[in-house]
Amino acid sequence: MLKYANFDVVFQEVPDEVTLAINISNCPNQCPGCHSKYLWKDEGKPLDNNELNRLVEQYKSGITCVCFMGGDNEPESVAQLARQVKNDHKIKVAWYSGKNDLPQNVDTNHFDYIKLGRYIAELGPLDSATTNQHMMKRLADGRVKDITEWFRRNKHVETVETEKNPAV
Ligand code: SF4
Repeated sequence: MLKYANFDVVFQEVPDEVTLAINISNCPNQCPGCHSKYLWKDEGKPLDNNELNRLVEQYKSGITCVCFMGGDNEPESVAQLARQVKNDHKIKVAWYSGKNDLPQNVDTNHFDYIKLGRYIAELGPLDSATTNQHMMKRLADGRVKDITEWFRRNKHVETVETEKNPAV
């Protein structure tokens, strides 16, 4: 069962979208220099269909995208929730994976954006000129484009609303 530790409404994680970013726990990647080690533990609130619907309905009037931050221990479950968002809420869906590649059996058709790549501190995050990470965008014609460059042109982070540790 996927669980999440907290969420933010953010502006810079997904280009030109107002995004409900859900921070999923039980991260298996153990990247050296990880900035979110609190997500390594298998704890938080279960992220099932009902809980996802509750979150999206709560913020739907102000967001254009839902982003799953993590979930690499259960990629099929992330893909299933992405399908739910697209079918039930008709808003965009993104995924921040810490993997360099996704398992081939995972259905990525419901994602508008997927960020790939482990976090390597010396190479930096998406807005670093030396980053190893990539943000991929599905275009209207179905092609997938690497839009990582956007982050270097838009170095600026802002958060408007946060619910910390909702399970507590
Ligand atoms: S994927 Fe993210 S949360 Fe997981 S270890 Fe790497 S940097 Fe940390």
